[in-house]
Amino acid sequence: MRITDIITTPVEIRYRPEYQADKRYYPKAPEQTNVIVEIQTDGGVVGIGEAAHSPGVYGETAWATIAAIEYLAPHLIGQDPQQITRLNMALDRHSPVGNIAAKAGLDMALYDAAGKILGVPVYQLLGGRVHQSLRTHISPATYEDTTSDMNALMEQGYRAFKQKMSGDTDYDIALVNSILDQIPEDVVLSIDVNQGWSVNQTLDIVGVFERRKRFPRNLILEQPIDGYDLAGAAEIRRATRIPIMLDDGIRTVSDLRNVLDARAADIVSLKISRVGGIQRCLQMIKMAEAANTAYIVDEINEMRVANTAVAHLALASKYPIYTGVCCHLLLEQDIVTGGGVWVENGSAFVNDNPGLGIDGLDLTKVRATHGTP
Ligand SMILES: [Mg+2]
Repeated sequence: MRITDIITTPVEIRYRPEYQADKRYYPKAPEQTNVIVEIQTDGGVVGIGEAAHSPGVYGETAWATIAAIEYLAPHLIGQDPQQITRLNMALDRHSPVGNIAAKAGLDMALYDAAGKILGVPVYQLLGGRVHQSLRTHISPATYEDTTSDMNALMEQGYRAFKQKMSGDTDYDIALVNSILDQIPEDVVLSIDVNQGWSVNQTLDIVGVFERRKRFPRNLILEQPIDGYDLAGAAEIRRATRIPIMLDDGIRTVSDLRNVLDARAADIVSLKISRVGGIQRCLQMIKMAEAANTAYIVDEINEMRVANTAVAHLALASKYPIYTGVCCHLLLEQDIVTGGGVWVENGSAFVNDNPGLGIDGLDLTKVRATHGTP
């Protein structure tokens, strides 16, 4: 079977109102545009993928992704989509730097197509299922409603939360203390600063949490400082027993190698959408395992298509401490008409259908029209 064409569709995604008014350091727009990638073949199989964007983390926009895919498509058309490694090599050769979202969307669509051709789910292509389901974290609603929303989510079975920080020390300390007062010790709270604090500010703040009446064993400190300041992260790590998770500065295999070499993280957050695809993310998972470093398999501004790919990879991984596949639940619309990842009792599941196991897409209502180049 050969690839005959690659279709890109920009899709507007909008967070539900209660998730729009975040007072967060990381600049996230209430709405943004992702790109659905469809790899067509002469056998009638269509592989689907999603290029998810986070301009505030890796700088690409949907329109840059569409241009990159147009540039890369001639190197895939006419080729066998089952040759995922060889086609990833072609993408890297023609675009060695950047275009992370474009490569992730293409790689995801190759896996979906290959799974459909072979009649196996994507997790099977990744070495097979290790977990039937996996705990997922979720972000609660805006700051004013954080604690009541967390209570509702805990009643639904969620046992891991991610809370964005604002960068304002007093505000962040008060918020984290109020959450820690409320959640039981077996519920994990990662506080994601998205590079918003300095090293000294971080040392002051973690000192406050360490001196709580009861040491917060369920707290994870995510990316407090500049993503590339590994010496700073290692210094913070040595100064506190609260685990440090690094995230925003891990975009390439070299980035991860530097983090591991510097012993700068207790946990690394690995994201298909931010490292250029399933295959590269799998490689990075193996690197973390080889370095005895804990990891999560996570998401970034994703709809259900990319969230499903994350779930397949997480369920085929040895030791993820949890995964992140709930972003699509925070959006106003779902383009997936059936199948794909689902969350039950706070854990992620996928079906056993071929490829990503997504039955169909409805792109008619959410096709992005503004800002077209
Ligand atoms: Mg993060």
